[in-house]
Amino acid sequence: MKYLRLVLPLAAAISLSSVYAQTPAASDNTDLVADNTTTATPDNSATATPTAKPSPVAPVRELEDILVVDTLPTINSAVKIVLFNDNTWRYVRDREIVQDSTVYAKYWNTEAISPYREVPLSDLPKSVAIALVDSLKNYHYPYKGKMSSRYGPRRRRNHNGVDLPLKEGDPIYATFDGRVRFSQDTKTGYGNLVIIRHDNGLETYMGHLSERKVEAGQWVTAGQVIGLGGNTGRSTGPHLHFEVRYYGQSFDPERLIDFSSGLLRRETFLLKRSYFDIYSKYDQNFDDEIANEEDDKREAAEAAARRYYVVRKGDTLSGIAVKYHTTVTRICQLNGISRNKTLSIGKRLRVL
Ligand SMILES: [Zn+2]
Repeated sequence: MKYLRLVLPLAAAISLSSVYAQTPAASDNTDLVADNTTTATPDNSATATPTAKPSPVAPVRELEDILVVDTLPTINSAVKIVLFNDNTWRYVRDREIVQDSTVYAKYWNTEAISPYREVPLSDLPKSVAIALVDSLKNYHYPYKGKMSSRYGPRRRRNHNGVDLPLKEGDPIYATFDGRVRFSQDTKTGYGNLVIIRHDNGLETYMGHLSERKVEAGQWVTAGQVIGLGGNTGRSTGPHLHFEVRYYGQSFDPERLIDFSSGLLRRETFLLKRSYFDIYSKYDQNFDDEIANEEDDKREAAEAAARRYYVVRKGDTLSGIAVKYHTTVTRICQLNGISRNKTLSIGKRLRVL
């Protein structure tokens, strides 16, 4: 799809956007264009776990038969308004500006299925809040239907995604806005595979396609048809194999999408490192979720209870222990030191 670069005067842009203002009320969100679409949450933060029940998000319309008729500037140079031929519009990021952001620059490889091999799991944050949709980020299901196989261990080989049976030739849609990172006939189990990297840092994999409609490097919008369902690769019967990965690590796509209704489960997703375990599945969730939340709370409480003391001239471990109503043994444990250690002035000791 080509955006026409015909630029109308700003006055026209304002009047058009007010005529068609049935989608997001979002010009106040322009700071979201910034690079950091994902925010690592500190390991010990109790606030990292959202407690409110998330509201599901309906997909945007597919862009199959809709044409872009114009692109208009907004007050933020990184955001454009795209007008469609059915009199609707969307805010979109100006890709000329976005393409230099780290998401699309780091570990960008259009020839390898996984470009993240050198990033170990232990380097990933314990949890990360991922903005899935907002006024600039749209969602569409890749395919809607009943699953024939779910995420998890399967015989001798792990199943890193979900399988959705389909009719050969059914359209497969881009899940979020982003850029095609890989589009090839892989000669592997994936068959014809399209991988899209999204603004939110996630990558989605769509395998067994009969036809690919996008090429690596191409920008795509949620709801755009990226290929047609098929039966290529290691596949018995036409189906879509769909994976979601973060830094190359897969997690259960059902954590994001209810495939039978096509709804996105939430606007912001708290991705936990524990989800990258092949045994960590969406429907074992509630016990897991509650346990995770308890862990988070306990850690946060522990962090809040910690006390530190800066060693001054004349201090002894026993003197410090008395002052904080604790023991020398405990202080030594907390700091990994022996009780004979000479205290250096200015050293920060954890005392509680
Ligand atoms: Zn599969």
